[in-house]
Amino acid sequence: MKIAAFPARYVQGPGALGRFGAEVAPFARRPLVLADAGLPDGVTGALGAVDGVAALLVATAAACTDEAIEATVAEARAAGADAIAGMGGGKVIDLGRAVADAMDVPFVAIPTVAASDAPCSAVVIVYDAAGAVVRAARARVNPRLVLVDTAVIAAAPPRFLAAGIGDALATYYEAEACARSGAPNKLGGQATRLALAAAAVCRDTVLDHGLAAMEECRAGVPGEALEAVVEANILLSGLGFESGGLAAAHAIHNGLAELHETHGALHGEKVAFGTLVELVLGEASEDEIRRIATFLAAAGLPVTLAELGIGDVEAALPVIVERAIRPTDNIHNEPRPMTAAIVADAIRRADALGLSIQSMTA
Ligand SMILES: [Zn+2]
Repeated sequence: MKIAAFPARYVQGPGALGRFGAEVAPFARRPLVLADAGLPDGVTGALGAVDGVAALLVATAAACTDEAIEATVAEARAAGADAIAGMGGGKVIDLGRAVADAMDVPFVAIPTVAASDAPCSAVVIVYDAAGAVVRAARARVNPRLVLVDTAVIAAAPPRFLAAGIGDALATYYEAEACARSGAPNKLGGQATRLALAAAAVCRDTVLDHGLAAMEECRAGVPGEALEAVVEANILLSGLGFESGGLAAAHAIHNGLAELHETHGALHGEKVAFGTLVELVLGEASEDEIRRIATFLAAAGLPVTLAELGIGDVEAALPVIVERAIRPTDNIHNEPRPMTAAIVADAIRRADALGLSIQSMTA
C-alpha cells in the first residue's frame, strides 16, 4: 500500500509571521504559542493579529521531555487553548507537536531556522532530562499549518541553514534506497511517486542553489536562492523523508550521536557525513561521491569524522557501528544486507574521501 502524509497548509516568504492571525483564524480562537525563550522580541512580536483570535504567547526553554509535555498540557488546558503553535528550533516544535497531540487540537509549526526537515512531519523526538533520546513518537496528524518566515531564517546564523542542507541532501538517497529495497516509509507504506519526486527536486534544488543560499543567509537578506533552499530543507525534504523513508545516512547519524564528542554538532551536520557513508554503501561512483563531498564541504558541512570532533577514528568506529546496525535501525532499509564489517569499511572510506577533498580545497 502506498501512503503519504502532508501538512494541511504551508506558507513561506519574508514577513510570513505577519499572516499568523489570519492563517489560524479558520481553526482556532485561542492558540497558545510556545516560543523559544532565546528568540528576539522582534521575532515573536512579528506574529500578526486579527480580530477574533487571541493568541497567548508563552516563552519556553524546555526540551521535549515527558515532564515538559505534561506541564505544558496542563498550562494550555488552564488557558483554554484550542490550538498549539511551536515557534523556534526543533525542540520547541517537538514539544508543541506533542502537546497538541495530547490535547487533540491542531498544531502550527513555526520554524525560525531551516536546520532540519522535521517541521512538516508528525515525528516527535522525546528526550530525558539529561538530553538523551527516550523515543521517536508520532503525532496522529501532521501540522495544520507550517508558517515559515524567510526573513527570520535569513537573520539566523548560517550554520543552521547549512545543517538543513545536510539533512535535505540525504533525503533523496535514503528514499531511493527504500524504493529499491521495498522498505516501508515512516508511515508504514510504500512511497508514492510524489514523495520520490519531492526527494529528487529537493536534491536538485539544494545542489543548484545551496551555495548561493548560504551567501544570502550570510548577508542576512533572503533572495531567490534562499527561498528555494528553505522550501527544499523544510517542505520537499519533509515530504521526502516521511513519505519516502530513511536509510543508512540517518543510521550513521544515530551512531555518531552515541559519541559525546559529536554533541556540539547539529542533526544535519551528522547526517551530512552519514550521506557520504550512504553513497559508499549504495555503491555510487567515485565521481558522484566526490561531487557530493565537495558540495557539502563548500556549504560548511563536515565531511570527515575529525570535523565532527572525533579524534580517534578506530576507537569511535565500534560505537558508531554498533548503534547504526541495531535491528530496528533505518540502515536495514538499504537494498543489501548490512553487517558491522561492511558499515565500518564504508565509514572509513567516506572519511578518507572527505580528507582528500579537504586537502584539495585547503
Ligand atoms: Zn534528519
